[in-house]
Amino acid sequence: MEYEIVIGLEIHSELQTKSKIFCGCSTKFGADENTQTCPVCLGLPGTLPVLNKKVVEYAVTAGTAMDCKIARFSKMDRKNYFYPDLPKAYQISQFDLPICGEGKIHIKGEGFDKFVGITRIHIEEDAGKLIHEGSEGTLADNNRCGVPLIEIVTEPDMRSAEEARVFAEKVKATLEYTEVSDCKMQEGSLRFDVNLSVRPMGSKEYGTRTEMKNLNSFRSLENAIKSESKRQIKEIEKGNKIIQETRKWDDDKGLSFSLRSKEEAHDYRYFPDPDLVPVILEEEYIESIKGSIPILPWERIEKYTSEWNLTQTESQILTTTKQMADFFEESVMYCDDAKSVSNWILGDLSALLNEVGIEITQVKFSPKDLAKMIHMINKKEISNSAGKTVLKEMFETGATPEDIVKEKGLVQMNDEDAIKEIVLKVIADNPKSVEDLRSGKDKAIGFLVGQVMKATKGKANPGVVNDMIKKNI
Ligand SMILES: [Zn+2]
Repeated sequence: MEYEIVIGLEIHSELQTKSKIFCGCSTKFGADENTQTCPVCLGLPGTLPVLNKKVVEYAVTAGTAMDCKIARFSKMDRKNYFYPDLPKAYQISQFDLPICGEGKIHIKGEGFDKFVGITRIHIEEDAGKLIHEGSEGTLADNNRCGVPLIEIVTEPDMRSAEEARVFAEKVKATLEYTEVSDCKMQEGSLRFDVNLSVRPMGSKEYGTRTEMKNLNSFRSLENAIKSESKRQIKEIEKGNKIIQETRKWDDDKGLSFSLRSKEEAHDYRYFPDPDLVPVILEEEYIESIKGSIPILPWERIEKYTSEWNLTQTESQILTTTKQMADFFEESVMYCDDAKSVSNWILGDLSALLNEVGIEITQVKFSPKDLAKMIHMINKKEISNSAGKTVLKEMFETGATPEDIVKEKGLVQMNDEDAIKEIVLKVIADNPKSVEDLRSGKDKAIGFLVGQVMKATKGKANPGVVNDMIKKNI
């Protein structure tokens, strides 16, 4: 029998606020254990939480970018359970009235082109971390208690590991571009829970689903989906029932294990948090956030490929981060040569960035300087190879291209008489290469051009040199 895989995702994303959701404690990652806590985020008796305004702003921003309806009225609830990593023994979250609902994201890939529905996005607090050390028993680090999260819950609209990955990548890009989250997966800023079931192809009813929690890379997301769907199909073929449960995905073993039977919402005994007032949003506020959403990566890719004639691959790399796309677009604004700007950023500049290990936001020169350098090449004031020298110098010192060209004497030689003199000398000095070229070995011209460039310290116009060599042998 043929089966269909049905996948829904729950995505937890830590927001990029400086302080926690209900107190002033820092959210900075990597501090010593329990140094970023206070009575409020530990939930000590008598303390009162106050909702961080920025959290609401980020949640509404994410919801707007994902085409959600933004609730004018939402409220916070307590989710009661035994949490060994949350001293309050309840998590403040949103239950029946979340801040965003009914959104969608478009995904496209090999064999699919569709919308994935977003059921809801709600605000909640993160839990602490348990550290299991042999002789010490289990230790608790509560620094992460109260770090703000949004949880993005999708409809069960995805049908393969590939669709889920493309969707997850798009969510990540959206959160990064809107600067809602840094999405550092290795630091737990973005984590995926997969709800998965299988059913006979064509069936309308859902099978029993399992949940795999806390996948923190695209690779484990894909692997977990492939492995779990195979496991479920195998069980069904054997005549066994799928049990609704939470399973733990083991990346190293490439297998999932049963963790506990799945809780239902009523197991949590949700109730409105009496310490927090409802979140009421004005139309004006929602509109102002709508106006602040930047152009998202897929819209940029569309523009790069259709208006600026870049390839899909070039456009995709340039939009990997908002910072790189911004730098690119600003340079194009100044020199109107998208192809050259793309070539320089993806080529020489990326190599320099990798070498030193810095981001594009940290370079010492401005997009305008890069544009000026490209403009000089286009006007034949400097050669392409001199451009490489200029870029390297700009990268190292932050000097302007004009100053570098002047100081290093890189102005291109376009004077044909002067070039001719050198070309004739190189021809006279290299009879062997000249002979090769005459006998049809076209590659020999490269060596001769190289000799002329060397003699002119890279200043001669290579096109002119090429023509002149051919004319004079
Ligand atoms: Zn605190």
